[in-house]
Amino acid sequence: MPPVLSADRLADARRFAEILQPGRRICITTHVNPDGDGLGSETGLVHLLQARGVTAVVTNPSPTPERYHFLFRDLPGVDRSHEAVKELRRADLILVLDISDVGRLGMLSQTVLERGVPVACVDHHVSQGHLPDGPRYVDPEASATGELIFQLAQANGWPLTPAAARALYVAILTDTGGFRFSNTRPETLRTAAALLEVGLDPEQIYLEVYANAPEGRARLLAETLQTMVVEADAGLAWVTVPPGALERLGATADDLDGIVEVPRQIAGVRMALLFREIAAGRVKVSLRSVGAVDVADFARPFGGGGHTKASGLSMEGSLATVQARVLTAAREYLSGNGSR
Ligand code: 5GP
Ligand code: MN
Repeated sequence: MPPVLSADRLADARRFAEILQPGRRICITTHVNPDGDGLGSETGLVHLLQARGVTAVVTNPSPTPERYHFLFRDLPGVDRSHEAVKELRRADLILVLDISDVGRLGMLSQTVLERGVPVACVDHHVSQGHLPDGPRYVDPEASATGELIFQLAQANGWPLTPAAARALYVAILTDTGGFRFSNTRPETLRTAAALLEVGLDPEQIYLEVYANAPEGRARLLAETLQTMVVEADAGLAWVTVPPGALERLGATADDLDGIVEVPRQIAGVRMALLFREIAAGRVKVSLRSVGAVDVADFARPFGGGGHTKASGLSMEGSLATVQARVLTAAREYLSGNGSR
């Protein structure tokens, strides 16, 4: 039995779907360094739309990581991320998934801001950001954007094909850390159950997403964990990606996914961080929390955001400078009660 939608959600989902009509030029996009939720939601939605005669292409600001290529195997020509700007210039509807802030669209931000076409959004982040006008289907309680795409299908009676179900399962599986994180609600598992009932093989999906790794991913994990520092008194633990490690190991940013969970697993840790130089003089920080500590709130003054227990930010400065600033702020934040 799929989860039951409230009358309000049902009405919202039906209103949102009105814009998804045949004949429109639809571009679907998500945040820089797309993850399983962004890509699973996009490909799931493309399948759902195609089954109803609506075509759409995917135009992301970063290339699809190897790990998620399988999602596009039965969607030839749909991943147009390598020509995203060109496609966006021709679109008459832009659909932004898994973010509510144009700034997270990286090099596509300007094009999306300038187009003057409706920009629809489906998202589950708490952080409010700015996007050009268009319909919204947003719920910060949802575990994943994929859960919201499932609701659109359910509310509008769109047939759930096995390919669409698999993509949405990937979205929910990855954003809940394999159904472990606090965003795993009864509705999440009911949704996952409804997806499995379409006839998916959960082990096959697990193997595609997590057990098809290049050797470099395991070596990157090993090298990054070697850098771990634990400040038990402060409830802090952090790791740093050794500069140049990705290039040397033939790894990509996607291979870092999950590493910050290791310092987070240490007893007594309330905030775990992963630092990585993303360009000369620019550092990205991934933040995870345990218990009541709100890392979305912590990240906000630095221009970052995300979810209460998983957020991120990026800052100008050397690795050492950014580390010093963020860790000082983290010690202070944790010495309060972990929220403002
Ligand atoms: P991750 O650390 O896995 O890259 O991201 C964790 C969460 O934080 C995701 O929900 C992501 O959307 C958010 N996030 C990561 N980096 C940034 C950032 O630079 N700015 C904002 N606003 N959110 C971020
Ligand atoms: Mn998400």
